[in-house]
Amino acid sequence: MDASEAVEAVISAARAFMGDRLSVNRTVREQHSRGEDTTPPTLPDAVAFAETTEEVSRLLALCHQHGVAVTPFGAGTSLEGHVNPVRGGVSLDLSRMTAVLEVNEEDMDCLIEPGVTRQALNAFLRDKGMFFPVDPGSHCTIGGMCATRASGTNAVRYGTIRENVLGLEVVLADGRVIETGGRTRKASNGYDLTRLFIGSEGTLGVITKVRLRLHGIPEAVSAAVSQFPTLEAAVETVITIMQTGIPVARIELLDDDQMEACIRYSKLTGFAAQPTLFLEFHGSPAAVREQAAVVEAIARDFGAASFAWATEAEERNRLWQARHDAYWAAVALKPGHRGITTDVCVPISRLAEAVVGAKATAKDSGLTSCIVGHVGDGNFHCLILFPENDPEGLERAWALDRAIVAQGLALGGTCSGEHGIGLGKREFLEQEHGAEALAVMRGLKASLDPRGILNPGKMFRN
Ligand SMILES: Cc1cc2nc3c(=O)[nH]c(=O)nc-3n(C[C@H](O)[C@H](O)[C@H](O)COP(=O)(O)OP(=O)(O)OC[C@H]3O[C@@H](n4cnc5c(N)ncnc54)[C@H](O)[C@@H]3O)c2cc1C
Repeated sequence: MDASEAVEAVISAARAFMGDRLSVNRTVREQHSRGEDTTPPTLPDAVAFAETTEEVSRLLALCHQHGVAVTPFGAGTSLEGHVNPVRGGVSLDLSRMTAVLEVNEEDMDCLIEPGVTRQALNAFLRDKGMFFPVDPGSHCTIGGMCATRASGTNAVRYGTIRENVLGLEVVLADGRVIETGGRTRKASNGYDLTRLFIGSEGTLGVITKVRLRLHGIPEAVSAAVSQFPTLEAAVETVITIMQTGIPVARIELLDDDQMEACIRYSKLTGFAAQPTLFLEFHGSPAAVREQAAVVEAIARDFGAASFAWATEAEERNRLWQARHDAYWAAVALKPGHRGITTDVCVPISRLAEAVVGAKATAKDSGLTSCIVGHVGDGNFHCLILFPENDPEGLERAWALDRAIVAQGLALGGTCSGEHGIGLGKREFLEQEHGAEALAVMRGLKASLDPRGILNPGKMFRN
């Protein structure tokens, strides 16, 4: 049986249990031909909209039997070509699996299906006094967040998705279903399979259930925006705050170009286009006051020109919405342009060198760019704009991306703090981990997916 006959065999067998939810419609296939990235799109042969674990299991067993590629798809917001089905086959869309299956208020955990978004989960939890803190600036699925080891603005206090997943249900490449982890807050009971699948980018298994840790909505929340004369001053403030051990909930950096973009896009009034920190404090009213006073004193020591409070929920939400919209604000700076974004993360003590170095390299390149970052974790993004449909412009943008990554690696950092490897960052994997560690990773892949059907071409350069 050749490759196209194998695909036909899968499609006709899967139709028997999925009906119209196994689509070969061209528009639907185009919607699954890449994510929020700049890779040349590839059409999958079919798109399967799964609704149950059993369907996922039956579909994978079929694809395994016939050697047909399967690319799991959440919301398609990933940035490194993760969902581009480079070898065709089936794009397996999990976005219709949206049930919240359990909420255990006493233990503060929940069990959900992978297509639930964090926005939907938090709307569901709001009147229970709990929330789920991991907040990427996109409308993505929690299954996709697990698969990319995502984080967001709250990670500095509450951790990334890795720290907030207690267990998973995973369908393996051959259709077997396993459960990993459990409901306890700690366990010393064998290999940590949960963490193996977190960040595996759909290359080791398909996540069909996620058990999450939840957190109590803090009694008091207060936000502040502080503006600085220089980028160095803003970053040195962050480093000192982190080294002092103040439990800030969020600490985000926007450079002058990003601030200008946000002021325009989100109509932020009362701020200048200067390096800026957005901060948030959670805790009891007294703890929040105390943390904020210490942080304000540190910021003033580094020459902060202003430290503006936002205690009203409406004003806070407006500010954080502007922060979450930073990517779109940057892209809107130049109509007809698209963006790629770096994702370097460095040890906190090297953050100033990394950010200031990235800014200088970006300026030298002559390309329009903005820096925004989850700086409390040492993670920042340089959004690089290039003219749409201009391969040369895109190549210049990638050259800048690679130069900034090289600077980050030289400082003991990583090419990706949260976006993942996908297609775009494969070249750095061996450099970061070494040949032996990479061989172990390949061995794990071969053991769990011996026919190489799960998201082939991603993570490793074959
Ligand atoms: C404007 C914008 C802002 C962003 N901000 C952030 C941010 O702050 N932090 C951050 O971490 N990321 C951010 N991202 C990147 C992106 O949103 C995350 O990578 C997100 O986790 C992807 O989720 P998704 O549902 O869109 O997954 P997709 O893009 O659909 O898939 C991502 C990867 O996960 C795999 N996958 C998806 N679902 C499953 C599943 N159920 N089982 C197994 N594998 C699966 C796919 O095969 C693919 O490899 C941002 C993106 C945009 C466009």
